[in-house]
Amino acid sequence: MAEFCPDCGAQGVAGREGCEVLFQALTGKAFSNVGWFALHRLVVDVYALQHPDKYCRSGKSLVAHLTGVCVALEYGERKTAVNRAIQQWLSGASQPLRPDPPPPRQRGQLTIVSISQAHSLPEFHDALYTWARDVWQAWQSLHPYAHECIQAALNQKKDG
Ligand SMILES: [Zn+2]
Repeated sequence: MAEFCPDCGAQGVAGREGCEVLFQALTGKAFSNVGWFALHRLVVDVYALQHPDKYCRSGKSLVAHLTGVCVALEYGERKTAVNRAIQQWLSGASQPLRPDPPPPRQRGQLTIVSISQAHSLPEFHDALYTWARDVWQAWQSLHPYAHECIQAALNQKKDG
């Protein structure tokens, strides 16, 4: 078994399965702690972008995770409303979404390991946003597509 995760490159995690164990542990923690729960959507979105073969198999799931990270980093106080608009837009979209170009092969320098060691909520928050910015940067080629999707979702909200 590989020592590193072949999807995100995390070292010393006992492969893809070990990486997934770290992710599940954070999911468990989120469900028993309201402060961590509030940040968990972003954990899921960033983790998905580093493991697209498993979590972004459909165009729709890729768009959901990609826009989720974008909104968390760029939309501040508006993020709840924007995420709701995206959710509505995604559930109504009849055409399959075709993100272009394909996901990058290099998906960031940092991995879930960088947030797994946090001992307090502020520490976790800072580590998570640092990881998110790193991964978002790695997905730079899809920033225009992400912004296009968010704009389409917001326009649809205005119409309806
Ligand atoms: Zn991984």
